[in-house]
Amino acid sequence: MEIGIVGAGVAGIGVAYGLRGADVEVTLLEKNREVGGRAATRFENGCTYDYGANYVTPDPDLEAFMRETGGDLVEIEEPVWTFDSVGTIEPGEARDRPALTYEGGIAEFARRVLSRADATLETETRVESITRDGERWRAECEGRVHGFDALVMTPPAPQTAALLSNADWDDPFREELVASIEAVPYRTILSVVLRYPFEIDRPYYALVNTDRDHEIGWLSREECKRGHVPDGESLLVVQMAPEWSLERYGEPDGSIAEAAAGLVADLLDGPRLGTPAWTDCGRWRHALPDDEVDTDVLERVAESSLFFAGDWVAGDGRVAAAFGNGCELGWRLAESGDEPLQVVDPDDGDDRSR
Ligand SMILES: Cc1cc2nc3c(=O)[nH]c(=O)nc-3n(C[C@H](O)[C@H](O)[C@H](O)COP(=O)(O)OP(=O)(O)OC[C@H]3O[C@@H](n4cnc5c(N)ncnc54)[C@H](O)[C@@H]3O)c2cc1C
Repeated sequence: MEIGIVGAGVAGIGVAYGLRGADVEVTLLEKNREVGGRAATRFENGCTYDYGANYVTPDPDLEAFMRETGGDLVEIEEPVWTFDSVGTIEPGEARDRPALTYEGGIAEFARRVLSRADATLETETRVESITRDGERWRAECEGRVHGFDALVMTPPAPQTAALLSNADWDDPFREELVASIEAVPYRTILSVVLRYPFEIDRPYYALVNTDRDHEIGWLSREECKRGHVPDGESLLVVQMAPEWSLERYGEPDGSIAEAAAGLVADLLDGPRLGTPAWTDCGRWRHALPDDEVDTDVLERVAESSLFFAGDWVAGDGRVAAAFGNGCELGWRLAESGDEPLQVVDPDDGDDRSR
C-alpha cells in the first residue's frame, strides 16, 4: 500500500508520524526546500527567527512528546500584553499553556518528528496536478509522476481546492467537495522583521491588537527566545493586520518594512525604531483559516482513498491543532490494516496518535 502526502507542514508530518509502524509506504511531497510549512524559521546575520508561527502552545501530552523528541526547547517566559486601535498598551491575561519553540527555531519541530516517522521525503517537489487512474492516484510534479493507492492533501484550503478543481477525476461529490473547501476564509499576513543594534527593554515578549482595528496585528521580541538574537540587540517580528497586508502584498520588501517600522516607532513611542539596521519580509497569502471546513463533506470521498489534514480541517489555525489533526488521520488510516483504506471511527479505540 503506497500513501502519498501532499505537503510536509506539521499536519503532513503528523500523518506520516501517525502511520509509523503500519504496513504502508509513505511519501511526502513538499514544494519547498525545508519542511515545516508555516511553522517556519529563517537564519540571517547571526539571528534565528520564527517568521510564521511564533511558538507552539501544547497540551500536556504534546508538551511531553516535544520534550521526549529532544532538541533545545525554549520556553518563552515573558508575557503577551495587548494594545488597541489608538495604541493603548495594557497587561494581558496569563497563559494557560506554555509557549515553546527551539533554540534552532520552530521549524525544528517538524524535522524532529519526521526523523521518527517512517517516510520518504521529496522536497522541492510541487504537486502541479492530480489524476484518478483506476483505483490509484497520480501526482504530477514538474515532469515526474508519483503513483499512490491513497492520497492525503494538506496544503491550505485554497491550494487544496485548486488542485482538486483541476484534477482529472470523476466523482459525484467532487463539486460539493471543492465548494466546501473553497468556502474556508483565510487571513493574509505580511510578517515584517526589524533588527536593531540595541536592546529594546520592555516588560513583555509580545503585544497583540485585541480590537483588530490597528495596522499592526502582533509584534514580538525574538530576543526573548534563548539563542535567537545576539546579546545587546533586538529583533522584532511584526505581523501586519490582514487589510494592511492585502493592500501592500505586491510592494517591494523595502517599502513594506519602512512603512511597518514607522508604525512600530509610533506604537512603542520610540522614534529610533523607525530606522532598523536591516529588515526582512515574509508573505503569507493563506496565513490563518478563519473558519473550519465541513468535515462531513471531506469524509464522503474517503471511498476514493482521498483524505485531508491541516489546521483548516481541525478548525483552528495553530501548530498543535494541525499536528494533532495529522496524527489522528495517520493513526486512523493505519488502523485500516488490510481493509481498503478508510477512516476508522476514532471512538473504536484509544487515541494513540502521540
Ligand atoms: C504569520 C503566522 C503566525 C502564526 N502564529 C502562530 C503561533 O504563534 N502559534 C501557532 O500555534 N500557530 C501559529 N500560526 C498557525 C500555524 O503556523 C499553522 O496553523 C500550522 O503551521 C499549519 O500547518 P499545516 O501543516 O496545516 O499547513 P502548512 O504549514 O501550510 O503546510 C502545508 C504544506 O504544504 C506545502 N504545499 C502547498 N502546496 C503544495 C503543492 N502543490 N505541492 C507540494 N507541497 C505543497 C506547503 O509548502 C507547506 O509546507 C501562524 C501562522 C502564520 C502564517
